[in-house]
Amino acid sequence: MSERGTARRPGRTVGAAPAACELCRGDGGRVLWREQALRVVLVDDRDYPGFLRVVWNAHVREMSDLDAGGRERLMVAVFAAEAALRQALAPDKINLASLGNLTPHLHWHVIPRYTGDAHFPQPIWGPRQRDPDAAALAQRMARLAVLGPAIEQHLRGAPVPLAGQSR
Ligand SMILES: [Zn+2]
Repeated sequence: MSERGTARRPGRTVGAAPAACELCRGDGGRVLWREQALRVVLVDDRDYPGFLRVVWNAHVREMSDLDAGGRERLMVAVFAAEAALRQALAPDKINLASLGNLTPHLHWHVIPRYTGDAHFPQPIWGPRQRDPDAAALAQRMARLAVLGPAIEQHLRGAPVPLAGQSR
């Protein structure tokens, strides 16, 4: 009820104040790509080498808070992250997820999955199924250096839509 009449627009803070927001305070991982609107970061998770997040830079809560151009650019970056992971790590599956229940700051998880990983076939937030093979993890770790250049290649080639542009 108290939210009634408060129009949402890009950049508007809704819910958690940015001061308390993990993705406003920090990058959320090692930055592989940064542009004005968004960044792609490598998450430090030893069970999931190559776990990427695409983070909208401004504290925005939902996809529908972005204009058409912003939404398009965000998804272009998600697909660039996905394509880079497929090139670099050849995972059995890619998981895309946008949850943000704990950190309601718009971001997408792009996660390389393997049948032998710690949670497969569950989501990575589900019950742990096994300890992944250490040699397989080490092999994936050794490939991470190619992720940044691969993401850059995909994003440099993609046109940046004009803000407010609708198809
Ligand atoms: Zn934030």
